Amino acid sequence: MPLHISVIFMVLRFFSQNALLSCGFLFCILMTAQCRQDHAGQPVRARIVVFSDEEGSNTQYQWKEVVFNTLTDPDTMNGLYAQVVGNAEFRLEESQEEGSTEAAPGSYKLKGGDAVQLAYKMQDGVLHPLDYHSMLMLSMYYHYEKIVEFWRDHLGLDPDVFGKRRLVYAPKIAAGNKGEISGTLKLNAAFDPVSQNFLFFKTSPREGLPIAMNLAILAHEFGHSVFDVFAARKEVPFYETSDSRADKQIRGINEGFADFVSWVMTMLEDGYGVTHAGIAAERILPVSWTSRDLILYPKICKGSFYCKGSVLASALYEVAKIRGKGAVPVAKVVLQALPVFAEDWASHKENSDFDYFWLLQRIVEKAEPGDRADYCESFRKWFDDSVNTDKVNEVCAVKS
Ligand SMILES: [Zn+2]
Repeated sequence: MPLHISVIFMVLRFFSQNALLSCGFLFCILMTAQCRQDHAGQPVRARIVVFSDEEGSNTQYQWKEVVFNTLTDPDTMNGLYAQVVGNAEFRLEESQEEGSTEAAPGSYKLKGGDAVQLAYKMQDGVLHPLDYHSMLMLSMYYHYEKIVEFWRDHLGLDPDVFGKRRLVYAPKIAAGNKGEISGTLKLNAAFDPVSQNFLFFKTSPREGLPIAMNLAILAHEFGHSVFDVFAARKEVPFYETSDSRADKQIRGINEGFADFVSWVMTMLEDGYGVTHAGIAAERILPVSWTSRDLILYPKICKGSFYCKGSVLASALYEVAKIRGKGAVPVAKVVLQALPVFAEDWASHKENSDFDYFWLLQRIVEKAEPGDRADYCESFRKWFDDSVNTDKVNEVCAVKS
């Protein structure tokens, strides 16, 4: 996507051409006083690259002057919703599953995490970042703030109950005992249910828009944290099962939910592609396979449990967009279904026949009676394997 890539080059060129401004990250930490002219007032105004859905705009990400509503201390990137931390080390304890772009809970350890020092200068009351890292951290916090505000305003999330989180910026990657460093190269971002942190890794030369700046990726990771609150109730053992097939089902459901709610906020069918077209190719909504296709033609999608998760995301996307029920109303129904589904999972997670129908039937039960036919038809279309179809038919015969 040349237009998007050109934004990145523009960012890089900005910092490389402004030799006086482009003091390195470390240098700026040491020379903060010299790099900065003045302190930022409240609310913080800054000129940074952010997601833009303005009409007529031909790029998703643009330089804009934005206002932060919750960033109380830009010097250390600390605010009401989150604090950005740096200098952490990410140690992988197990090699990653093929096709996984995120670390599984419990498969790694995170050490350290210190306060950061932003390098910036003030001009006419507007904060201008002075290096690439400061730019990324501002963009990351800004997008995170917008995500929390979206969930607060449209989906009833109380930020105080949800809690302030740490945004771990560019942790160093170290191989663990069993870890293979090649396995970590695919990792991009993660929500860690153990520490409740969000992790955003350094971008690789193969990537376009840096991960920390990608609103769709942040919104996806935020979806995992919502799943963690509504389904897992912040309990790590919730995710654990000794059955490997059930493990794939719950991981896929978590991914499909996160992809769907990322779309609900961004309205981008291909929000990840601007960062890494290769990884994103199998996640563009709606996907071209169904649950039956994945059984009959396993090579149709290479992304392991993500592939079936994408079927869930596509089924919800169809109800919301193609059948016109609306993104936010469908997300609300799914949120109501999650706590009940969590009980189903808790009592059946050691069974190798655990499947998506548990969630599908809870969603149908929570939908408005007049909308159930649309949910049923979409679920029948996307979950056309014999097990899920039979169960969907059962619940739809009763509820429709
Ligand atoms: Zn994910």
